[in-house]
This record gives sequence, C-alpha cells and structure tokens, in this order.
Amino acid sequence: MLNQGRPTSPVATNMNDRVTVSGSKGLEQATALIFETGTPRRTGVDLPEPKGRARRLGSHEREGEIGLPGLSEPETLRHYVRLSQKNYAIDMGVYPLGSCTMKHNPRLNEKVARMPGLADVHPLQPVSTVQGALELMHELSHWLMTLCNMPAVALTPKAGAHGELCGMMAIRARLDADGHTHKRRVLVPESAHGTNPATAVQCGFTVDEIPADKRGRVDMDALRKKLDEKSDDIAGIMLTNPNTCGLFETDIIEIADLIHTAGGYFYCDGANFNALVGRVRPGDLGVDAMHINLHKTFSTPHGGGGPGSGPTVLSDALKDYAPVPYVVKTDEGYGLVEDVEHTDGAKSFGRMCAFHGQMGMYSRALTYMMSHGSDGLKQATEDAVLNANYVQASLSDVMTPAFGGTCMHEALFDDRFLKDTGVDTLDFAKAMIDEGYHPMTMYFPLVVHGAMLIEPTESESKGELDRFIFSMRSLAMRAQAGLVESFKNAPVYAPLRRLDETRAARNPILRWTPPEDLAQAAE
Ligand SMILES: *Cc1c(COP(=O)(O)O)cnc(C)c1O
Repeated sequence: MLNQGRPTSPVATNMNDRVTVSGSKGLEQATALIFETGTPRRTGVDLPEPKGRARRLGSHEREGEIGLPGLSEPETLRHYVRLSQKNYAIDMGVYPLGSCTMKHNPRLNEKVARMPGLADVHPLQPVSTVQGALELMHELSHWLMTLCNMPAVALTPKAGAHGELCGMMAIRARLDADGHTHKRRVLVPESAHGTNPATAVQCGFTVDEIPADKRGRVDMDALRKKLDEKSDDIAGIMLTNPNTCGLFETDIIEIADLIHTAGGYFYCDGANFNALVGRVRPGDLGVDAMHINLHKTFSTPHGGGGPGSGPTVLSDALKDYAPVPYVVKTDEGYGLVEDVEHTDGAKSFGRMCAFHGQMGMYSRALTYMMSHGSDGLKQATEDAVLNANYVQASLSDVMTPAFGGTCMHEALFDDRFLKDTGVDTLDFAKAMIDEGYHPMTMYFPLVVHGAMLIEPTESESKGELDRFIFSMRSLAMRAQAGLVESFKNAPVYAPLRRLDETRAARNPILRWTPPEDLAQAAE
C-alpha cells in the first residue's frame, strides 16, 4: 500500500535505498493495486438508474455488490500504462530468454490482424459469411504442412503445451484404435521442457527418462539398451530438436526408426522450429506429431492479447485422429468439419476448444510467412543460428559454454566460469537487469549446472549484439575480479529488488482481501 493521507511526520518511504515520500522514483510512478486505487463505491460512468423497465434476469439477478474497484477513465489508463512501464518488452531491448524465441513482432502483422474482416468475425457466424477467414486458415495450414512436410495440421491448440496435448492425444487415440492399450510408456530425455512429461502423464502415459551423453544429446547406448530390455509397452518418445541445449540431435533418424520398430510414435517438441524452418522438414526426420509455437517461430506476440496458438502437424499415421473442428475446401468454397461423426472414418479424438482457435494469431503468422516468402523464412533461420553462434564465440573466453562445437539457435553456458567467485547464476542474472537486459533463461535445461541459455534470435543487429556481449563480458570479468558485493546487491535500478521467489511460488497470494471498512461498505 502506498503512502496516503496527510503526512503526520517528515518520515519518508525507504524504497530501495532511494528515498521519496510518494514511493515514485523520478517520473517512474509508484502504482498501488487497482483495488487500492478504486473502490466499489465509485464508478467511472455516470448514468441514471433506468426507470420503468422491468428487469429480465429473474433469479439470476445479483443481490449484493461484487466489490469490483470503480475507477475513472484516466485512473484506469494510468494504472495499466504504469504497470506496462514496469515490464520489460521485446520492443524495449534485447530479450535473450533461451527456448522462448523472443523475436520482433513486425508491425505489418498488427496491421493485417486489425483489418475488420479478420478482427471482427465471430466464431458463430454462418460459414458463408467468413469464407475469407477460413481461406486464411486453410492457407496457413498449407504453409505449416509444407514447411514440415507433414500431411495434416490441427490448428485449434492454443499454446505449445496445448499442442503437445493434442499430439499425444492423437497418439493415444491411434494406439487405442489399434488395440494397443498396453503401450503406455513414453521416453523423455532428461533435458526436456517440463511440459513434455506433464503432457505424457496427463494423457495416461508413464514417463521413462533417457539420459543425455557427454555431447549433450540423447545417449544412444542408453536408449538402445532400454528398447532391447523391453519395448512392447513403448507408446512413443517426446524429443525436442534442436534440443534444449541448443544442439541438433544428430541421431534423430535412427531414434525415429528405433521407436517405430518398437511400435511407438515420435512426438517432436517443435518449440525450437525457429532453428529449422526452410532448412529441415520434420516429416523427413520421421516425426509423427509436432506442435509449432506461432509465438516463437512465426512472430506472433507471446501472450497474444488472449490465448496463443500452437498448431500441431500430424503424420499419415495420426492424421485421421485430428481434433475437430477443422477447415475443408470443397467445390462450394470453404467449410468446417465440426462433429466427430463427420470426420474421416469418424476417428477424430474429439474437440479441444469451443471454437476454431486464435484467429488473431493465424492472421499475424500468415502475414509473417507471406511477407518473408520461403527464401526469407530460410534466411531468418540462418540468421538466428548465426547470431547465437556469434554470441557463443564472443563470450567463450570469459564464460564457459556447456558443450563444445557450434550451437543452433541458442547458446548454453554453465556456471564453471563463476566457480569460487561467490557469484552464482541467479546473481549474474540480477546484475544483467541493472545493465538493462532481461536475463537469459536460468537453471534450464537441468542437465547443465547453473545453466544460462541465451537465444538472441535473428531480430538483433550486430551493433545490438555487440552491446549485449560487452555487458556480459564486463559482468563475467567483474565476477572473476572478486567484486561479489555488486552482484549480491543487484538489481539496484529495478522497480523492485530481490523478491522472495521461493515463497511467491510456494504460497502465492492470488486473492486480494479488502480491509475491514471496504468489506463492510460492500455489504
Ligand atoms: C515454450 C516451450 C514449450 C511450451 O510452449 P507454450 O507455448 O509456452 O505452451 C514446450 N517446449 C519447449 C522446449 C518450449 O521452449
């Protein structure tokens, strides 16, 4: 709660060593919670009670106040603008979060997404009135299938993790349809994103971890041994390529063959597709299902003003099991298959979403694809890989790359370069905030000690990368010179400093409880 009312003594608020009575710092405004700014007693609109109109809500009519804060329009605007200024954004600077592909969101995408014919359509409109939107979805599907060399794509999933669920549900539906109900074991490398094992378990599979070898890739001996010992219960494998160490799984075709021989399916986590587009097609690698994070690879905003989009491409073996609804092209134009009963042989595993997915993301992603063209998409991939290798090479003498050789689209460092300095990965990340950089991904993947995963993406110019590298090098050298204090105190310039992150994760306070007087007023 910010200071309010009349001061009773000349005592100032001590915010992060810098003292102001308001809690603001210069023109960076302090922000109270929205519930503390507004009260249920106030309203931003000033309309008389409607007279002489019967209410038609019947028994659904509200009896008490719901306690929403009332704010004026300027108060509301200021609240959200202030919050937005406390946030870091890709539009503000380098956002090197590995595995997340924080690339620039071209403004052309926004222009197209806001066109009324695309922005103002309703999912319940008659199909004959949304032919253009359906054509756009059909075209997007075409690009995704072509880039992947896969025969089908489910557009409905609303995030990467949701796409994983889609792919694994298709695998499960196929196994069940073939009577393979004993196939319930899914192999997952230990470097996998947490959503992989979570998805497998959600679909009723058990997870069996495969270790990584010294090269940071799937340990092939361990994999073969597992399959030699027992393979009749294998449902499949979930593998990320390039993997979360930023390395191409060079044995991927052999892995696909081994899994298929065991009667299982190959789920590829496609979050790192940004390193492959235009160069490698997952269908050529033996992949059966793969989600594509449109917000990572195809430049739609993360968060997306609502749900995101994680279309899932499917192989011949799985395509009949795709969820409804989906778009079909007929002689009369575009149509939607809405019911399982109308799908090919009625095999669809069902429906994942009420409607057809995130239209706003589809129009942005297709705009990105069409404005780049196939050659431009390939160049973006190559530039992303080049930028990551430039970062890795430029930091290798002062930081410690986790594995030898070149990387794909992200550079992974471990914390050996901080050994005996008293500084750890977390301290290093906090010092980056003072330098004006959002930290890289930390402590992930788990196979590397004190991991720092840096993904610059293709968006950054050489000048921008050089400034980032300069800051990273100075921090590494500062740590090695024994200047521990400056790390332990960091961040000095952030709106808030070291938060109790463990407590926040373990005991999140998700509900605001009104002070007594407000609670009474609402009754
Ligand atoms: C981002 C990511 C996911 C999950 O994608 P969301 O869109 O955040 O649900 C899964 N796997 C990997 C490797 C990722 O980087």
